[in-house]
Amino acid sequence: MAVQWNLRFGIVLIGDSAVGKSSLLQRYTEGTFEEASLSPLGIDFKVQYLDFDPGILIKLLLWDTAGQERFQSISKSYMRNSVGCILMFDISQRQSFKNIRNWHREVMDYVKPFTMVFMLVGHKSDLLVRRQVRRAEGEALAKELDMAGYVEVSSKENVNVGLSFESLVRVIYKRL
Ligand code: GDP
Repeated sequence: MAVQWNLRFGIVLIGDSAVGKSSLLQRYTEGTFEEASLSPLGIDFKVQYLDFDPGILIKLLLWDTAGQERFQSISKSYMRNSVGCILMFDISQRQSFKNIRNWHREVMDYVKPFTMVFMLVGHKSDLLVRRQVRRAEGEALAKELDMAGYVEVSSKENVNVGLSFESLVRVIYKRL
């Protein structure tokens, strides 16, 4: 009988307001998407089980900043015990891409060196005609900041949603 490993990883989603953090969590954990939510969804915590490899089940504890990013500062408790961080921008909002460096610095200031694995997500990839950030720029920034990778995701059209979490988890898993 296959041995079942039970692992638990905390992952925090960080980025400007309205880049789609709650939408990504909702799509990933419930498989649904709400167009133009009038108020922030304000999801703050979700659990998702990931059938990672045969015999390996990983419990993901997913944290969203739930609107706190509006105040340019996020509760440090979201980062406590997290081993992965999805840094997210909106490919149709250049400013949200520029702010990634600040978010990255803020997380790095808090966590111990080499304890957090980062994945850069260029979100709303369905908005191609309004694109303000080239794919190559996302890839270059992920490399420069030593992140696990860059992936373009659409929660709306359900593109690369699972991949963004799974590639992050794969890197965290390898580091164990
Ligand atoms: P948050 O503040 O970062 O949590 O962002 P929300 O999840 O509240 O999303 C902000 C807005 O972006 C909402 O109107 C969403 O419907 C919209 N949105 C989220 N994901 C996508 C996507 O993949 N594509 C498009 N076109 N819009 C999205």
